[in-house]
Amino acid sequence: MAAATVVAGLAIAACAPVPLPPVPGPNKPISTTTSIPNERCPLGAPASPYFSFLAVEDGCPVRWNPCRPIPWWFNPTGAVRPLSEIHAAFEQVANASGLTFEYRGATTRRSREWFESWEGYGLVVDFAEIPGSVVGLGGIAWSMDGVQRGMVQLDPTMMTSPNPVEARRQWLDLTLHEIGHAVGLHHVDHRSERMYPMLTDPFHGTFGGGDLQGLRHVGREQGCAGPAAQTSDAPVLRRVVAE
Ligand SMILES: [Zn+2]
Repeated sequence: MAAATVVAGLAIAACAPVPLPPVPGPNKPISTTTSIPNERCPLGAPASPYFSFLAVEDGCPVRWNPCRPIPWWFNPTGAVRPLSEIHAAFEQVANASGLTFEYRGATTRRSREWFESWEGYGLVVDFAEIPGSVVGLGGIAWSMDGVQRGMVQLDPTMMTSPNPVEARRQWLDLTLHEIGHAVGLHHVDHRSERMYPMLTDPFHGTFGGGDLQGLRHVGREQGCAGPAAQTSDAPVLRRVVAE
């Protein structure tokens, strides 16, 4: 996610829609297309101006297996916000999607390294400075068995509102956005949604209506994805990171 323009310490919204930022790496997101619901995903992957997916394969959004808890770890190194806020963001994603997240404790892993590794299942959240105006990254790495690893990276140097209540909402908006990527959502062009690619004032601290619809489409209502009893780590075939 890109930072909003900051004037006199106050973040203000950009006036014009921001073009979608380029996705690093060789794997570009697969464009979302209208699809006919099928047995792999009864809700399908409909095209909507209010939600979209990082990747669609065989007419279904690429997603985590909702029938398997998703472990996640937090790297406290350099963190400028309390773990409770990260929990609060995951709780919103869980409530909207039906996905189950299991906090496994602190880690020394960096989210990007975890994401780019070839083994392991789950999601790592950390704070690490990102060059330029980008203040957050979220991504998924997936195989034929669904998403295997996710990353959420938040930039601790982001300029925030001097008002602590506003600042909390601002961080929550950023965290929701990046976790949104880490469960398979992509950007939309509507500022009312948290998946808008710009952090905008006023801050909400909650998802928008389109975000909630998108989360349904990568969640439990789509049924299990991949073998629910899978315990080994299948080779990762693709990765996407978005700002
Ligand atoms: Zn983004």
